Amino acid sequence: MIDELINLINHSNNIVVFTGAGVSTSSGIKDFRSKDGLYNMKYKYPVELILSHTFFINDTEEFYRFYKDKLNCVYKRPNICHKYLKKLEDLGKLKGIITQNIDGLHTKAGCKKVYELHGTIYENYCMKCNKKYNHRIVFNSEEIPICKCGGIIKPNVVLYGEALNDKIMNESIKLISNSDLLIVIGTSLTVYPAASLVDFYKGKNLVIINRDDTNYNNKATLVINKDIKEVFEELDRRLYE
Ligand SMILES: [Zn+2]
Repeated sequence: MIDELINLINHSNNIVVFTGAGVSTSSGIKDFRSKDGLYNMKYKYPVELILSHTFFINDTEEFYRFYKDKLNCVYKRPNICHKYLKKLEDLGKLKGIITQNIDGLHTKAGCKKVYELHGTIYENYCMKCNKKYNHRIVFNSEEIPICKCGGIIKPNVVLYGEALNDKIMNESIKLISNSDLLIVIGTSLTVYPAASLVDFYKGKNLVIINRDDTNYNNKATLVINKDIKEVFEELDRRLYE
């Protein structure tokens, strides 16, 4: 199976990658939706509720308690998967990464063209005057982070009940529809509308690398149900074959 994937990668110079939580698990970031992930953690409210727009507005303090406690991945490092993708980008083969992750690890690995569909913890803005802030003010403040103007600072992270950024969506559609090899990594493709991006792929070969089955397995040329870290360790070892 890996041989087949290597063959596809070797024969393409227009690869696009679509990633989800599974690429970050070996960096020590828990998958929200996995059995032992955030969604099953004992907390005062269900996680999907806390991470919703309404909750942010109504109970900003509780939102931030959770956010700072569970979503701070500032000290996490890119793993072999992020690093391998950076090498593919340097080789000119990978044209872009579309990710559902908010951990910023693709950018940290040095990848240049990264579309973060659900935003990133590294960008924050004042809801009143729109002034931009980095992650420090959010993670360092004891209470709700407040702008100089008095407005509440909100992470540029797409919460439940919020729309995805149109520009990022459109750029992602363009990238996917022009690619000739789409590799989906570490996502079960169940979160919409992000997952629907795969429908815009017109190329011949769709590869899915994920521990569990996905909704798109029947459309894929190649499905690898293996541990992501193992797959990328092997791909990395054999990159210049
Ligand atoms: Zn402000």
